[in-house]
Amino acid sequence: MKRAPWHTKVPTKHPVYHEETRCTLGDNIESYNRVPGTTGRPKCPLCRSISG
Ligand SMILES: [Zn+2]
Repeated sequence: MKRAPWHTKVPTKHPVYHEETRCTLGDNIESYNRVPGTTGRPKCPLCRSISG
């Protein structure tokens, strides 16, 4: 199920955003590290494979 985009505030080598609640990568982000929005990041490949 799609929801408002979020991403991690922890610096990563390949920053992406998530918008799919079934995405395990997005779901693995600890709640205290989650930030709403995309900040211009590309969409997570796993989110894309789940819901386009
Ligand atoms: Zn994702």
